[in-house]
Amino acid sequence: MEEVSHSKMDYYSSHISKLIEEFSRLPGIGPKSAGRLAFHVLQMSEEQVASLTSAITEAKKNVRYCRSCYTLTDEELCPICKSSKRDHKTIMVVERPKDLAAYEKTGQYNGVYHVLHGAISPMLGIGPNDIKLKELIERLKGDVEEVIIATNSSLEGETTAVYISKLIKPAGIKVTRIASGVPVGGDLEYVDTVTLLKALEGRVDL
Ligand code: ZN
Repeated sequence: MEEVSHSKMDYYSSHISKLIEEFSRLPGIGPKSAGRLAFHVLQMSEEQVASLTSAITEAKKNVRYCRSCYTLTDEELCPICKSSKRDHKTIMVVERPKDLAAYEKTGQYNGVYHVLHGAISPMLGIGPNDIKLKELIERLKGDVEEVIIATNSSLEGETTAVYISKLIKPAGIKVTRIASGVPVGGDLEYVDTVTLLKALEGRVDL
C-alpha cells in the first residue's frame, strides 16, 4: 500500500486532512496509521466520538504532577505517596511515569518514587535544570535512607545516574543503581517483571 502523501491528502476535505495531520503528530504514528485512525473516527458514532474527545480533554484538565514524587495523578498526592504502607525512606528515581508503572507491576517494590520526566542529555541540550532534579534534592532534606537510581541504561540514563549520585552522596544518603540486567538503551516499560526484579535485587552502591 502506498503512503498518504501531502499531494494525496489534497483529495480529502480539509477536515479529514486536519484530522490525519493531528494523528500523525502522535508518537509512533506514521502517515498511514494516521489515515487509518482518522477514517476509523469518522465511522464511529457521535456518542463514541464525544466519549473519546471528553476523555482526552478531561485527562488533560485534571491530571497533574504529584506534589511529592512528580508522577502524573488526579490528586495533590498520588496514591503511592499517600500510602502509609509504603516505605517513604526509600526513593526510586525513574525517568518517566511509565517506568514507575513497570516497577509497580512487579508488586515487589515497597518504597516510593521520584519521577524526573527525562534524563540529562548534553547532546539534546537537556540539562539538570530541565528535569525534576531540584525537586528530588529538596525531598532529600527529609528522612531518607536510600535512593535507588533506576534511570534507563542508555547513555542519557547513565549520565543522569552519575550526576545524581555525585550530587547526593555528600549528604550521607545511600545511593544505589539498579543492576545492568536491563538491556542497553532499553525502555523500562518493555522489560519483563523478572528482569526488573533481578535488576532491583542486584543493585549496587554508587
Ligand atoms: Zn507521588
